[in-house]
Amino acid sequence: MMQHWNGPELQDCPICGGAGLLEEESGCSYYVMCMDCGSQTVNIDFRSEEERKSAVSKAAELWNTGKVIYSSAGE
Ligand SMILES: [Zn+2]
Repeated sequence: MMQHWNGPELQDCPICGGAGLLEEESGCSYYVMCMDCGSQTVNIDFRSEEERKSAVSKAAELWNTGKVIYSSAGE
């Protein structure tokens, strides 16, 4: 077990090239969102510590492969 687990490496936003941020939602799911344009991955649910890690990996993988939802107010 690593004491300080900083999470997976996140690439730049596939939409605008901004910084991606891993977010935990209500302690039961993870998603990655862009701080610049608001693009985000879907929420990945988890129910245990094991699932938590795979949820983080999955969210990061979606982000890193460009599978994001872009919800611009202007669209
Ligand atoms: Zn962005």
